[in-house]
Amino acid sequence: MTAKIRLYVEHPLGRGQSVRLAREQAHYLFGVMRLAVGGQVALFNGQDGEWLAEVAEAGKRGGTLTCVAQTKPLQLPPDLWLLFAPIKKARTDFIVEKAAEMGAVRIVPVQTDFTNSERIRQDRLQAHAVEAAEQCGGTFVPEVAELQRLDRMLDAWPESRQLMFCDEAEVGSALRLAENERHLPWAILIGPEGGFSDRERTRLTGLPFAHVVSLGPRILRADTAAVAAMTMWQQVLGDWS
Ligand code: SAH
Repeated sequence: MTAKIRLYVEHPLGRGQSVRLAREQAHYLFGVMRLAVGGQVALFNGQDGEWLAEVAEAGKRGGTLTCVAQTKPLQLPPDLWLLFAPIKKARTDFIVEKAAEMGAVRIVPVQTDFTNSERIRQDRLQAHAVEAAEQCGGTFVPEVAELQRLDRMLDAWPESRQLMFCDEAEVGSALRLAENERHLPWAILIGPEGGFSDRERTRLTGLPFAHVVSLGPRILRADTAAVAAMTMWQQVLGDWS
């Protein structure tokens, strides 16, 4: 049995567990979706899988749901980070939404030499990731990090994490990934509209954990490139195969 409405909650889930709803969630379920006592919802919290829950109390400003049965186990995405340079608002929102759907574990906006946008609203982007997870049937919500400088991130790069450096200057060079890289943690890096600076390119291509990758003979916009790169990675190293 599956409920149509899926909701992410920050609350433990288990058989018989009652979950108090926040005001906005109560408004959404009872005001917008017109759910009444006995109505069903699917809940997930990023830890306990997906649970079928029933409305026990419905009010204007709050309400309670009771967990009935687990409908899906927790399914974590592969250990893939998406690093991208934020672009215009709608396109940045798109990248975050798609990264959540495509199965990234962490989404990191990075400031590069030619990054167009100096600020992001981390809370808004995180809310987009939650919505995308609700919509796509995922049981996990990727964390959206605060904006960080790419060079600082590279200074403190975690040992063993591989970096798929998507470089539009590499047109024609295909991704070569070895089977033994399959079980390593990875990150994908997508640059801004202005691309990477020479300084960044020199540093990135010299890093022992970096793999320079082409996404074909055409120059893609950053949002397209993010989806294309995640598709490619999932196909070769991720949970698609
Ligand atoms: N202004 C740049 C294009 C940047 S496209 C130029 O005209 O040269 C934005 C980002 O998408 C790039 O930094 C890169 O990370 C990625 N990208 C776009 N097309 C790509 C391609 N064909 N191969 C690899 N990466 C690509």
